[in-house]
Amino acid sequence: MVLASYAMDVARSRGRCYPEPPHPYRSDYARDRDRVIHSRAFRRLEAKTQVFTTRYSDHFRNRLTHTIEVAQIARTVAGALGLNTELAEALALVHDIGHPPFGHAGERKLDELMRPHGDRFDHNLHALRIVEKFEQRYLDFPGLNLTFEVREGIVKHSRSYDAAQFPELSDYLLDQRTPLEAQLIDFVDEIAYNTADLDDGCEAKLLDIDMICFDVPLFAELYGEVERSHPQGRDKLRFNEGLKRMLDRLATDLIENTHAEAAASGVKSVEDVRRLPRRLAGFSPQVTAENATLKKFLLDRLYDHPAIVMDRERSVAALAQLFEFYLDHPEAMPKFYTELAQRAPRHRVVCDYIAGMTDHFLLRQHLDLLGTSSVSAAS
Ligand code: MG
Repeated sequence: MVLASYAMDVARSRGRCYPEPPHPYRSDYARDRDRVIHSRAFRRLEAKTQVFTTRYSDHFRNRLTHTIEVAQIARTVAGALGLNTELAEALALVHDIGHPPFGHAGERKLDELMRPHGDRFDHNLHALRIVEKFEQRYLDFPGLNLTFEVREGIVKHSRSYDAAQFPELSDYLLDQRTPLEAQLIDFVDEIAYNTADLDDGCEAKLLDIDMICFDVPLFAELYGEVERSHPQGRDKLRFNEGLKRMLDRLATDLIENTHAEAAASGVKSVEDVRRLPRRLAGFSPQVTAENATLKKFLLDRLYDHPAIVMDRERSVAALAQLFEFYLDHPEAMPKFYTELAQRAPRHRVVCDYIAGMTDHFLLRQHLDLLGTSSVSAAS
């Protein structure tokens, strides 16, 4: 397939920290994708919360199935734009690899616990540490030895960093934009979780079709089309069709608008994309507004639903108690971390150990070390 002139050509990659000979039939980005899939942190996504914790039910998306959905949409969007699909896929598969247990609530709690120690927790930076250090799979280097463009995409996922505040990130061209393949991921991530959360929210009976149609005009329009074309169809299947059309509408808008923005800006190369003062990828103004309405609906009606909040609070209370317990009893961690805690700041070692846990593992450790009664007492 012919790449657009502003696609990231793997031949022009800034390469790996530890040089390696080329593979006979896989590109460097294809190898990065494969290394992510074979990593331990990737497998652990299966038991990490997306929205619904597994205590609520295990029918719903978890962070692994979410990641696979993001990768599918990223390949489609990147392909339609003539971008490098192997790079987009690698970036999508790695985008959530630094998530601690219990989703964003777990991330916020770990950050809060690190503050009194003058430190922070940030899932992008944690992801970078996973792929640079924590994964131990290869004889010749620590970590996964990913290409620059994939590591840069991890660093710049959904936020930007100031070089003065984060001098350790100075290699990552903090004053420049990422290639379009990486710019797409934030939007594709949103498309995947906004549609999936409507689906899971209905499945959990916390949302219903009427409520969504009332508050989300984009969905109401598409669902109305389905009702007219399939008046006898089962509600659940019409709902699925409405969601499918919404995902298609969002992805198509992302493709068309990004294409139009790239054309209007006159970019001819990745270096042009990097030098622009703003990101090119994104939705049109109309879909940006529709998407914001959808996000607000999910925030008001699903993420802050009492059933979800109660489960979330119990989970993060267990996380916080375990953090304090390991700080006082570093010998209760596995030998590797106990020894590390003698050389490195203890709060950092405890944080890294907990951030790597799955939801199940954390709750089991909590039960074994602290018992269940302390969770209910704290929540
Ligand atoms: Mg995500």
